[in-house]
Amino acid sequence: MSRSKTIIVGGGLAGLMTARMVKALRDPEGEIYIVERESHFGGAYGSYHYEGVGAFDHGMHVFYETCIPEVDELFTSILPDSDWNILVENLKDAAGIYVQGRLQLETPYVDLRDVPDERLSAYLGDLMLAIRDRRNKPLPAEANAYEVMKAHYGRALTDDIFVPLLEKLFLRHPSQLHELATRLAAINRIAAFDGDLMLDLMKSDELRARLCFPDQYKLPPYRGNNQRGFYPRQFGFYHVMDRLKEVLDEQGIHFVPNASLSQINTEGGRVQSVRITSLDGVNTDIDGVTQVFWAAGVPPLAKLLNVPLTGGPPDMRPASWYVHLLLDKEPMTDRLYYFYCFDKGFRTYRVTNYAAYCPEAHTEKGWPVCVELWPNPGDAQTEACVINTALSELRAFGVTDATYRVNFRAAQQNKGPGFPLPTLKTIGAMENIRAQIRDRGICNLALTGIMGGKNIFFIPEVLKDAHEQVMAAPYSSGIGVSPLCRTGFQPVDRNEFRQNA
Ligand SMILES: Cc1cc2nc3c(=O)[nH]c(=O)nc-3n(C[C@H](O)[C@H](O)[C@H](O)COP(=O)(O)OP(=O)(O)OC[C@H]3O[C@@H](n4cnc5c(N)ncnc54)[C@H](O)[C@@H]3O)c2cc1C
Repeated sequence: MSRSKTIIVGGGLAGLMTARMVKALRDPEGEIYIVERESHFGGAYGSYHYEGVGAFDHGMHVFYETCIPEVDELFTSILPDSDWNILVENLKDAAGIYVQGRLQLETPYVDLRDVPDERLSAYLGDLMLAIRDRRNKPLPAEANAYEVMKAHYGRALTDDIFVPLLEKLFLRHPSQLHELATRLAAINRIAAFDGDLMLDLMKSDELRARLCFPDQYKLPPYRGNNQRGFYPRQFGFYHVMDRLKEVLDEQGIHFVPNASLSQINTEGGRVQSVRITSLDGVNTDIDGVTQVFWAAGVPPLAKLLNVPLTGGPPDMRPASWYVHLLLDKEPMTDRLYYFYCFDKGFRTYRVTNYAAYCPEAHTEKGWPVCVELWPNPGDAQTEACVINTALSELRAFGVTDATYRVNFRAAQQNKGPGFPLPTLKTIGAMENIRAQIRDRGICNLALTGIMGGKNIFFIPEVLKDAHEQVMAAPYSSGIGVSPLCRTGFQPVDRNEFRQNA
């Protein structure tokens, strides 16, 4: 009998882990092809390499567990425990924000404890009424980001604090943004009270969903799961991706770089064959396809299947930049792994201090830091301008001062089509495309990866979704399927991990 054939398009973490799951859980004997547009594999979990300096990641990328043991095990077992920095409990995710002119080191939620009592009581009064109203009237499924925030906090907090913040991040009033926009940053809670009072208030689920314990390092063990973060001891996430690729290589998986699919041929509700086309125009046809997993973004699949893109082009922001720096001294960010900048006027979106979660990242060459910038339309976009902006904003945040020396600096513009804004139009179009693809009823084609399903963005959701799709794929054998997979799994409580809040 001929072997089954799985085609995976997209060689990011979702694509590589899909291959690993298919091999281990569904189809150990089958052939698997991973087709990747770039010359290297890893996607956003790869690293940039600088001659004589070393590697830097694409901003902050840590592997956070899905809390599905067999999926997590398939990933974390590729390195011995001693080769990982394992991030647990209150140090799983040490995050801050720069907001209202202050770098908050203790909590990633907007801290309103210094707001005058009169103002604070207006905010909290509104918040209590929002809780009452939400009990009586659930939020409609199609609510926009403004309605979601108002239903969560009431109008005063939403208008004063969260409207400007969402406008800074996504260049639109939240009434034009999809609900997804409220999930991409930690804006589901505020700090309003000190720790001892919060311990009492946290007994209410509704208050706890809106108010945070104000010191992330002293949070009592209240978490609903024991999710951990994994980062390699050797600095650079590419070490892990290279090892993952090696493991897959040893299992006989075919890697096809510099290529993509140029045809998907369906018949009788199944993909029968695909054509792989390399960047230099060489075609390879694969017949007798058992399953295709598409982990390379929604629009290219729509194009391939001739699914019309409704409502015009997506709302995009100019491509983002990574500024990689080696500072001669430790940045003044205390224990933070990263912080977001929520104030308008700054181009910085996030600053990452790698040595905070990978102590080995600090060497005699310096302290590696990444500033992620989202330029506004019309901004000068030369490498020198972008680096200058990053350096002057680091000073403004109080992360560095005049005594700091920069041992190395480089800027990388994000490749690819840029970051689609989570507007109603763009996310609505994405949902429409997914529905049209689903309506084609192609039983052996699965859309996975980032934005492969509603609100699937951060890696735990991406991998949980990939796992579901792998388990549902129509392989003839179910070898290795554990009872755990058949009976479903406990979803991770989104509010419990801030990076994915
Ligand atoms: C600004 C930003 C910040 C983020 N921060 C975090 C974070 O802090 N924590 C977190 O968990 N997640 C974060 N994410 C999300 C995280 O990056 C994704 O969850 C993760 O990368 C998804 O993996 P993927 O394999 O689906 O996508 P990717 O890593 O993007 O991989 C997709 C791969 O497909 C390839 N490809 C694209 N088109 C084609 C094609 N036509 N043919 C063949 N190959 C193709 C690409 O080259 C790429 O290698 C962030 C995302 C963004 C945009």
